[in-house]
Amino acid sequence: MESQIVCRIPSYVKAVTDALQKAGHRGYLVGGSLRDLLLGKTPHDYDLTTDATPDEMLEIFSAFRTIPTGLKHGTLTVMSEGNPIEVTTHRVDGDYLDSRRPESVSFTRRLEEDLSRRDFTVNAMAWNQELGLVDLFGGRDDLQRGVIRAVGNPVARFTEDALRILRAFRFSAQLNFAIDPDTLAAAGLQREGLSKISAERVFSEIKRLLVAPAAARGLAALCESGCEREVFHGLPLRHELFERLEALPPEAALRLALLLCDHTPAKAEALCRAWRTSNVFCDSVTDFLAAFSADLPHTSYEARRHVCSFWKGWEGAMQLRTALGQNVEECRKICHTVAKNGTAVEIKRLAVNGRELQTQLGVAPRDTGTLLLQLQDLVWQDPARNKKAVLLELARAILNKEMSV
Ligand code: ATP
Ligand code: MG
Repeated sequence: MESQIVCRIPSYVKAVTDALQKAGHRGYLVGGSLRDLLLGKTPHDYDLTTDATPDEMLEIFSAFRTIPTGLKHGTLTVMSEGNPIEVTTHRVDGDYLDSRRPESVSFTRRLEEDLSRRDFTVNAMAWNQELGLVDLFGGRDDLQRGVIRAVGNPVARFTEDALRILRAFRFSAQLNFAIDPDTLAAAGLQREGLSKISAERVFSEIKRLLVAPAAARGLAALCESGCEREVFHGLPLRHELFERLEALPPEAALRLALLLCDHTPAKAEALCRAWRTSNVFCDSVTDFLAAFSADLPHTSYEARRHVCSFWKGWEGAMQLRTALGQNVEECRKICHTVAKNGTAVEIKRLAVNGRELQTQLGVAPRDTGTLLLQLQDLVWQDPARNKKAVLLELARAILNKEMSV
C-alpha cells in the first residue's frame, strides 16, 4: 500500500516537502493524513512534520505565503497553490501536570521523539519520499488488523492526557476499529482524568463519535471501559439502542436524541448544559424528545395539532421511531400532508387576532389567549372555518355558552 501513497499525494503537498528537502531538511507526512492515505481514503487535510526549526521554516518558506498559526508550538501554515498545509517542527512534550496540556513543548531534530509522543500507533507513522514509511510502533499492522492501540504504556499516556481516552473511542467509531484490550483497560483506569477535560472538548469528541459510521462500536467500547458515568454525567444509557444509531442519518442531535429516548427532555437538556453545547443543538435534542414522547397522530385533526405543537421536532421524532423499528409511515404521511397544505394553522395564521376579539366582542385581555386556542382547535377540526366572520361567530358562541354555564 506504501507505493500507492506517492501518486496520491497532491502536488501542493509535494511542493512543501520539496522546499524542505532543497534546504537540506526533511518533511514527513504524519498523523491522520498518512493514516487515511494508507487506508485508501482521501485525507481532509495534510499535516507535515519537519526537523527544521520554526525560524528555519520561516526562511525556507519565504517565497510562500505563510501564517504563523502556532509558531510558538512549532506550527507554521504554508499556503501552497492556495491550500493551507500545517508544517510542525518535531516536538517533544514536557511534563503533563493537568491531564491535558503539557507544561512546555520543546523542539527536537529527532523524528522518533516526535512520533513517540503521539496518541495511537495508527497515528504515529511518518512518510517521506526518500525514506518511505517510518513505522516504529507497529502502526501499519494495527491499521491492517483494525486496532486502536496507544503508543507506549497506555496508562501513562492516558495519565498525561485524558482527552486521548475519548479520541480512542472516537477513532474506533470513525474507522470501525477495535480498541486493544490493554488500551481499553487503561482508559477505564484513568477515567477520572476526564473530569479535567473541558466540557467543550468532551462534547466535540462525543459529537464526532455519534455521527461516525461505526458509532455503536465506539459507544460500546466507551461503556465497556467503564467511562460511561463520567462522559454522560451519570445518565444511564440503554445499550440495545446503540445499534439503532446507524439507521439514522449522521446528525449528532438526532442520534443523541435516540440515545436518550428513555429520558425526559429536561434530563437531555441538563446533559447538553453540562457539555456546554450550543443552544441550537440543545433545543434540537429536546424538540425531538418532546415530539417523541407525545402520542402519535392518526387523524388529520390530530396531525394538525401534532405538527403545530412540535413543528421543529416532529419529523425527527418520526425518524427516531423508524430507527427503533416502529412503522410510522401512515402517521408521517398525514403529518406531511397537513404541514404542506397549510391546514396545521398556527395562532398567528388564524383569520382573527386577539385585538379583534377584544374590540369587536369585548373579550378581556386575560381571556384572549384561551379563546384563540379554542378557535385554533376548531380550525384544526375543520380548516374551512378559518374565515374572520366564521371565527367571530364561533367565538360568540363560545362566550355565550360560557356565560350561560
Ligand atoms: P482527524 O483530523 O481525522 O480527526 P487526526 O489523526 O489527524 O484525525 P488530529 O487531531 O488532527 O487527528 O491530530 C493530528 C495528529 O496529532 C494525530 O494523528 C496524532 O498523531 C497527534 N495528536 C493529536 N492529538 C493528540 C493527543 N491528544 N495526544 C497525542 N497525539 C495527538
Ligand atoms: Mg487531522
